[in-house]
Amino acid sequence: MDFAFSDEQLMFAEQVVRFAKKEIVPRCAEHDLAARFDFESFRRLGEFGILGLHLPEEFGGSGADVVTTTLAGYCLGLAGVDGGLTLSYGAHTFLCADTIFVHGSDEQRQKYIPKLASGELIGAMGLTEPGAGSDVAGITTRAARRGDRWVLNGAKMFITNGPIADLLLVYAKTDKDAAHAGISAFIVEKDAPGFSAGKPLTKMGVKASPTSELFFEDCEIPLENLVGGEGEGFNMAMQTVEWDRSALLAPMVGAMEYALKKSAAYAKERTQFGRPIADFQAIKRKLAEMKIFVETAQSLIYRIAWCKDQGRPLNHLEAAVAKLFVGDWSLAPSNEAVLLHGGYGYCHEYEVERFFRDTRLAAIGGGTSEIQKMIISKLL
Ligand SMILES: Cc1cc2nc3c(=O)[nH]c(=O)nc-3n(C[C@H](O)[C@H](O)[C@H](O)COP(=O)(O)OP(=O)(O)OC[C@H]3O[C@@H](n4cnc5c(N)ncnc54)[C@H](O)[C@@H]3O)c2cc1C
Repeated sequence: MDFAFSDEQLMFAEQVVRFAKKEIVPRCAEHDLAARFDFESFRRLGEFGILGLHLPEEFGGSGADVVTTTLAGYCLGLAGVDGGLTLSYGAHTFLCADTIFVHGSDEQRQKYIPKLASGELIGAMGLTEPGAGSDVAGITTRAARRGDRWVLNGAKMFITNGPIADLLLVYAKTDKDAAHAGISAFIVEKDAPGFSAGKPLTKMGVKASPTSELFFEDCEIPLENLVGGEGEGFNMAMQTVEWDRSALLAPMVGAMEYALKKSAAYAKERTQFGRPIADFQAIKRKLAEMKIFVETAQSLIYRIAWCKDQGRPLNHLEAAVAKLFVGDWSLAPSNEAVLLHGGYGYCHEYEVERFFRDTRLAAIGGGTSEIQKMIISKLL
């Protein structure tokens, strides 16, 4: 295993950081404060090529490998991009576009992928329901054939990009009596009759990423909007786990490095008792703990990315460890980053409070820490 990034990857990483600092970061604080999605930044991510980075060139992407794609996400965080925008990008690209690209028909790919890769269309993925989160097989949204249509009934909850999405990849039961094997995936366009999205939920963090409920009331979509075959939805959703545990987590790990850099600079500049606070052992320890998180988390997410590039089947134990580590073990160092800044750390201007709020999601979204522990213990 080669642990070094190639020269091309390192050059690209620099470009991503430069681009993000210039084009995206100056807009982040405002959108986080207003809890407003930044359409302009999303469009610029598309123009730069981030939204479709791993997709083939003939579909408007750049054909990048998974490690490079993960590195790009890391660099967005490292540049200081807020967790809201990077979450919206992650859901759009890895949970929606990639699934349609991998499992969709030629017609679906031609129709949607280039527009998703450019950001002309915004995508979302709806699996979680008001009554079914961790227990995916317990979803109750139904899809039934009626003539030349599928008719969907039910509701989804906590859907990233729900209020702004142009198209949604929605999981529903085509066989209500089956558990996982009864789940199928469908493309629902935002103007489909019987579809509506709820108002954006007021959240603790990732505020610039709109999250909402989705409602399907006799929602009619064409038969050809089924993605893959009937009953294949659960496996399709599970295949996004590799992305979820690499490129989707990467911006958060990069953001921790960003918070560490800010904290180290602040510790050298802030004096108390006649000395920079960086001189105090307790402060050095906080910085060391942040660095330990960044180094370990990087090893975990890049290993999953590298395995995917090698075409190796996902190691579920490693994936659960990575998710658990980034989700749970980020809490202490992100807390330390706030504390290190004292009262300023509690104020928006210093950014670490936003980072602290955004980070909290990683132990919940895409599978909670308890579920990761269940997977780890089961596989042991
Ligand atoms: C900001 C945000 C964005 C999201 N984006 C999306 C999205 O785009 N698409 C989507 O489909 N979903 C999305 N989600 C949903 C997310 O994946 C779920 O919230 C998550 O899977 C947990 O489900 P739940 O909220 O229903 O919690 P529950 O499953 O009800 O869990 C509640 C608590 O019980 C624990 N628990 C549950 N089962 C067990 C068990 N067997 N053993 C031990 N403990 C258990 C959980 O760990 C948790 O602590 C998002 C959520 C948030 C907050």
